[in-house]
Amino acid sequence: MGRLCLIELDGRFYSCHSCRTHLANFDQLMSKAFHCRHGKAYLFNTVVNVFEGPLEERMMTTGVHTVADIYCKGCQQNVGWKYEFAQHKAQKYKEGKFILERGRVVGCEKGDFYLDTQAIGSDPDDVPLE
Ligand SMILES: [Zn+2]
Repeated sequence: MGRLCLIELDGRFYSCHSCRTHLANFDQLMSKAFHCRHGKAYLFNTVVNVFEGPLEERMMTTGVHTVADIYCKGCQQNVGWKYEFAQHKAQKYKEGKFILERGRVVGCEKGDFYLDTQAIGSDPDDVPLE
């Protein structure tokens, strides 16, 4: 395997739970009110150091979405997904945005890592229907 070129973030950000690869800045966080199969999830405007899997259509509680799972470049673990396309107009704001599952990330501030347990709220449900 060649050397990985990873982007380093500053200030407050979220990192991969397993390998501490930096994934997203706090100021890119749009919503903490999402859910996924494994619990709470966060919606981000943009994330770094991930690669995308194949596109697939997924039926969620808010309708059909075309999504791609995203994986940490450091450890290849699935950390969430990206919304490519939303069928419902009300869900269009999610297109091009990223979900990180809370259980797969840790917060980081001034070099200290911590588990983020403050996520509250529950509106836009995005639990895939399986
Ligand atoms: Zn990782």
